[in-house]
Amino acid sequence: MDASPVIRCEGVTKGFGAAPVVRDVGFAVNAGEVLVLVGPSGSGKTTLLRLVAGFETPDAGSIFLEDKPACGNGVWMPPEKRNLGMVFQDYALFPHLKVMQNVSFGLKGWEKAAKAERALSLLQMVQLDQFANRYPYQLSGGEQQRVALARALAPSPLALLLDEPLSNLDPRLRAQLRREVKSILTSRGITALYVTHDHDESLYMGDRVAVINDGNIEQIGTPEEIFHQPLNRFVARFLGLADFVTAKATDAGLETELGVIDTALPFSAGTEGELMLRPDDIGVRPSESGRSKIVARVFRGLHNVYIIQLPSGATVHSIQGHTTHYPEGLPVDVFLEPHQVLTCFVSNGRSANGGEESTFLVPSGNGTNGAA
Ligand code: ADP
Ligand code: MG
Repeated sequence: MDASPVIRCEGVTKGFGAAPVVRDVGFAVNAGEVLVLVGPSGSGKTTLLRLVAGFETPDAGSIFLEDKPACGNGVWMPPEKRNLGMVFQDYALFPHLKVMQNVSFGLKGWEKAAKAERALSLLQMVQLDQFANRYPYQLSGGEQQRVALARALAPSPLALLLDEPLSNLDPRLRAQLRREVKSILTSRGITALYVTHDHDESLYMGDRVAVINDGNIEQIGTPEEIFHQPLNRFVARFLGLADFVTAKATDAGLETELGVIDTALPFSAGTEGELMLRPDDIGVRPSESGRSKIVARVFRGLHNVYIIQLPSGATVHSIQGHTTHYPEGLPVDVFLEPHQVLTCFVSNGRSANGGEESTFLVPSGNGTNGAA
């Protein structure tokens, strides 16, 4: 697969009067890749997508499409010249046009028969050819969105831009359509910039994921990288449940309330930090002499999540099978599950509020050391 960038942003900044809502953003979407842009509501995702599409002009920075400048440095390529397909949250089909005409809408200048053939093949791709003569209002939300996808892909755009395309669908349909959309994008090698606020969706849909917070891209990486090796606490928390426990480097290893991790550390003895723990990093064992206790059980169907109070009063979460039933108040031992690689955040003290951090990966070892 050709790995040259199809979309490239450099130093892109945009505001609407007051503070910028997109700040010095840089990223590239490579050919055939799905890059998911994920972040909370209001973080600047739609604005960034509209900048790429050409519906907004940046205050600073440049955007390149297949290495040709689209905006910045006095250049301006209008939206209709950018050859990008768009899919929106609200489908935005033309209500007065039948499905077939909606899909062929972008095929300007095509000969009639070729246009019909192309539209039909796209409708077959989304398995809606039998509805070619319906109007949008005669389709369900999921079907309308599949038509919108077919319409966006019909002119073979350079890349597809999708803005929360599944957010209006109910959860069951959303999960099904996620799989369909991913399979279409992947099997056809389509380059896509896919926006969502849903962290599960980002981990599933993205070849790579860019996490955006308050207009800044905090981290870009594979789903596994951003989930297991977050660069900062925002990314760690945004992508799923994360607890932080105090950790201190000693000659014996990394000391925490859940035991000492016996490993060589990349920072010197005495350094303090916080170890990030996901619910599957933490094991729990009922024990009369246990110094931790179960505070609550959250039943999730396939599993239970236990909230556990450590001797210091800090609480952590542990995921356990659905057959476990540990009552509130039960004394337990808590330990680190073996063979995990954990992330430790160490403040390097460059700023007064300790905002500058480094992260380090720590193998949790055999997990049998000193349970709390
Ligand atoms: P997201 O898509 O991540 O929810 P948006 O890009 O829509 O975020 O918005 C980011 C911020 O920019 C929000 O605070 C929003 O109110 C503001 N914003 C977006 N578009 C405009 C506009 N046309 N005029 C003024 N403010 C805007
Ligand atoms: Mg938005």
